[in-house]
Amino acid sequence: MKDDCIFCKIANKEIKADIVFEDEETLGFKDIKPQAPVHFVFIPKKHIDTLNDISPEDAALLARMLVKIKDIATEKKIAEDGYRVIINCNRNAGQEVFHLHFHLLGGRSFSWPPG
Ligand code: 5GP
Ligand code: ZN
Repeated sequence: MKDDCIFCKIANKEIKADIVFEDEETLGFKDIKPQAPVHFVFIPKKHIDTLNDISPEDAALLARMLVKIKDIATEKKIAEDGYRVIINCNRNAGQEVFHLHFHLLGGRSFSWPPG
């Protein structure tokens, strides 16, 4: 837990969020400013600043998170049409919250290359 981190506060239930998935190591919740009909944010409960800060010990956790994200995509019925999973890292990617997170976006089509 990092004291000034908004996602740690959400994980600790100090700040409310619309939770879509929770287990001992992961929390998934609706993005407050959705960019698609389905837009969830998945965080490890453990605080990690950015993708630059992961280590080999985090590999299994992050792989398990992808399996959970895939399961939620199936449950929310966006898996067949398709969806996007995004990690923004640092300034050039527009990272706003410095607690590592995956975005799950679906319910519409997305352009490529991204803006
Ligand atoms: P980033 O730009 O860091 O990849 O994405 C951060 C995301 O977190 C943004 O899409 C933003 O809308 C979302 N977000 C920021 N603060 C909150 C909050 O307090 N609650 C929720 N549910 N989402 C938030
Ligand atoms: Zn945090």
